[in-house]
This record gives sequence, C-alpha cells and structure tokens, in this order.
Amino acid sequence: MRSKGYARPGVVHGVALAHRRNPWRPVIALVAALSVLTAALPVSATATSTPQIHLLEQEVVPDRPFTAAADADAPNGPIPIPKIIRSRVYHTYYDMTTELQDLAAAHPDIAKLSSLGKSIGGRDLWVMRITNFATLDAGNGTADNGSEGGRWTAYIDGGHHGNEQLGMELAILMIHYLLDDYGGDPLATRFVDAYDIWVTPMVNPDGNVKDNRENNNNIDLNRNYDFEWTDESNHGSGPFSEPESRANGAGMAALDFDFYLSYHTGVDEILLPWAYTTDLAPDDEMYVTVGGILTNLTGIPAVRTGSGLYVATGSSMDYAYGALGAPASTIEVDSTQWRWLTAQAVEDRLSEEFEASVWFLEHIAELRARLSVSAWSLSGGSGRDLHLSLDVENLGYGTPNGTTVTVGSTTGVRIVDVEGNATIPAKGTSVLNMTLVTSHTGRVPLEINITYRELQVNSSRNVTTLLTLELVIPQGSAVIIGGLPLAIAVLIASVVAVVLLVLRRRSRRL
Ligand SMILES: [Zn+2]
Repeated sequence: MRSKGYARPGVVHGVALAHRRNPWRPVIALVAALSVLTAALPVSATATSTPQIHLLEQEVVPDRPFTAAADADAPNGPIPIPKIIRSRVYHTYYDMTTELQDLAAAHPDIAKLSSLGKSIGGRDLWVMRITNFATLDAGNGTADNGSEGGRWTAYIDGGHHGNEQLGMELAILMIHYLLDDYGGDPLATRFVDAYDIWVTPMVNPDGNVKDNRENNNNIDLNRNYDFEWTDESNHGSGPFSEPESRANGAGMAALDFDFYLSYHTGVDEILLPWAYTTDLAPDDEMYVTVGGILTNLTGIPAVRTGSGLYVATGSSMDYAYGALGAPASTIEVDSTQWRWLTAQAVEDRLSEEFEASVWFLEHIAELRARLSVSAWSLSGGSGRDLHLSLDVENLGYGTPNGTTVTVGSTTGVRIVDVEGNATIPAKGTSVLNMTLVTSHTGRVPLEINITYRELQVNSSRNVTTLLTLELVIPQGSAVIIGGLPLAIAVLIASVVAVVLLVLRRRSRRL
C-alpha cells in the first residue's frame, strides 16, 4: 500500500520526492560511493612525479629459423679481394670433385661436403656447407654472432648450364675464399663464423662433361623449377621433372635461406627478379636500390631479368624469391670464357663479379625490411592516458609489409590507438604513436611486438621485433582508473548513486 506523498508516478518525480523527504540523502550516497571508489585506488591530490619508461631488452624473432642479427658490426671499408693464387685454369667435373674433397678434408671444422643427389649420368651434385661447426653445435644452436635463432644462411649455386664455365669458377672461387682466407681475412672469417653458406658449384655435371648447356635429357635446368613453369620445348615434362633441378630445388627448400645467388655466363649483368614476366617484382624498389649500389661498386649493369634481358620461366632465381620468399639474384659473367692464352688469372678475371657477391653476403641483413626501435618516450600521466612514442628505424633496403603492433597481454596494460604504422621507409625512421591504458602502478613490464613481413612478396618471412620495456608509474600520478580518467569515474559514481536511490525508492513502492 502506497503512503501519501508517493502516489505520483514516474522515476524522476520519485527522486524529487526523496529530496523533499531528506534533501541530503543523494549527496551522502554520492560521497559514500566516491569514497569507496577512491579508497580502492591510488589517487592522490599531490602528484609530484611522472611515469617513466625504460628499455629492458630488444630482440628480433623470425617466424622461421636461420635469421640472426649480424649486421650491427658490419665493416664498411672496401671489400678485400681474396688472397687466392691459383695457377690453373678451369675445372672439369672430375678435378672439381677432387678439389672439393681435398678442401673438405683440409677444413673439417668449417666445411662439409655432401651430395644433393645424382645427375642422369650418375654424377654427384656436390654441395659444400661452410660455417663454424664448433660454435654452431654448441649452445643449443645459438650462434656466436650475439643473437639467438641461428645464422644468416645463403645458398649459392653455379653451372645450371654445363657449358657456362666461368659461372662455375665463380662458385668455386667463393668456396676457396671462405675456406682459404678464414682466420686471415676479417670478412671471410666473419662470414664463416656468423653465416651458414651452402655452395653447389655445378648443378649440371653431365652438361659440363659434354660441354653442353642442357642436361642429358636436353632440358634447360634453369627453366625447370616449380615456379611459373611453362610447357615449352626444352623446359621438361613438368616442373622439377629433371633430377638435377629437383635435387637442387629440394636442397634450397630444405634450408629456408636468407639469400640466394646463382651464377651463369653469357652477359655481364647482375640480374634481378622477376625473370618470368616483365611485370615489376613486389620488392622492385629494394632490388633497384641494391642493383644501383652494386653497379656503382663494380660497374656491372643491374637489370630486371624479364624486362631487361629476356623472359625466362621456371628459373631457380624466381623459385628462390617467389616460392621460398628470399631475396635472390643471378650474376652473369660475360661470355668471353676462354682466356687460356692470356696472363689474366681466373680470380682477376672474375674480381668484379666476386666483389658483387661479397657485397651481397656482407649486406644480407639489409636485403629486406629490418625494424629496430631506436628511441622511445612516454608522456601523459596527468591526463586521460599514457602516450607512448616509438622511433622505429628500418635498417634494411626493403619496406615492411603489414606492420602490426601488439602488446604483451599479461601485464595488465592495454594498447589502443596505434598510429603511424602504415609505412616505414627503407633506411628511414617512422614514429609509432600509441596510447597505453593500465590501472597498475609501480614497475609494470610491457612487451611490445612489432610484427611485419620482411619482403613484400607473399612467401617472405614474418619477423617480430620484440621490445621489452618497463613502465614506472608512481602512486601519486596514477590517475588512470581501469582505463577511465577521474572525471568519467566521478560521473559514473554519481549516476550509480542516483540509480541506487531510485531503485531503493521503487522497492519501497512495492
Ligand atoms: Zn646460364
């Protein structure tokens, strides 16, 4: 039964009537609600210090193995020409085999020779793996280059075309350089210690024995790879129909390498993807930049294969780049192959091509986007939010694809309103702005993951730059309440107080 004075309908009127009955009641309720809220929170009227941020650790985490950070200590001086003196001229398959076996036996700690498989004619496709095995095997695969996750891996081959002798010689020269100059030449030593380099100097031994471009099936092995293969007269019955290209392709695919280099002979050019089309490669900007540097360094023209030389489908370079996601190039030595009657040694004949090869290896970390946070700053703390700015530096010549920022979820910190992550230019810096929301005070660990694909091509690797930071939020400055600023919290408390009063009034009416 309703008593007199409470008969008028409507919630608002009910509240108004409550005022009439006890005008201080809402105020008391509001103060009580605020007291409960503020007692539970580290809010102080005397905020004397501001939040700070410190870097605890920064590391790079690839989604596939073999990538490591060896770029920080890269020497920038002129690239030394290897101190190899060899009087002989060109290798046949047979004396190359003997020489590779002797080299592996002489350098057991840094060289291992194995066979990828047999040619149609039953000849081994030798691959020399060159790395510092002692440090590779120690410590759970942690390399000695100051990073976790392995070593920079390069795959180098030559002799797809059996009559292209100088391309093979270039690959053999690289093996000699790494093994003979290890411990003496600083760069060769660094490559062996911090890299994992695989060299297959003669992909087509049968063709070499017969001085023939194609293999024993008269198939062009460099048109037989399983990427954009086309059915043409000497391309094989299907992709990887030939044992030589199949073995080399399987060796490549098993490695998940960071760079691919193939040696040929014919024109004096550094060839870049794509080969199968005249269309621009997704990472054309990176390739053109790198090609320009190499042309300046060596004088060898750098061209897009398809539009600058000729269209070649099913090539190993396109397979490495398009199917396996690694930066890739082909170095062609000009076709003046036979220098038998000249005084020019092979290493001098090939010095420019060799210099380009060494540059590629030296800069392997930069043949892609490579993000590193170079500076960080925190502002706010007396307003609504904490504002974090990160200077993200791209150390590479590539541009990152699809950069996303996430924050560690266990810290009680939410990250909102990330801005500025669209493009981080090659060799440039971009600012990433974000808002942090937390109710924590004191030392709050904060993990920020900047994840991106290191090349634009779809098959490339995802890389995460993992930043471990520490927020220091003094008690006195913690004005962030569950993600809401104080003014909104007071407003909500007021509404809650009013609603409580109304509910209480309505319950009395029942
Ligand atoms: Zn060739």
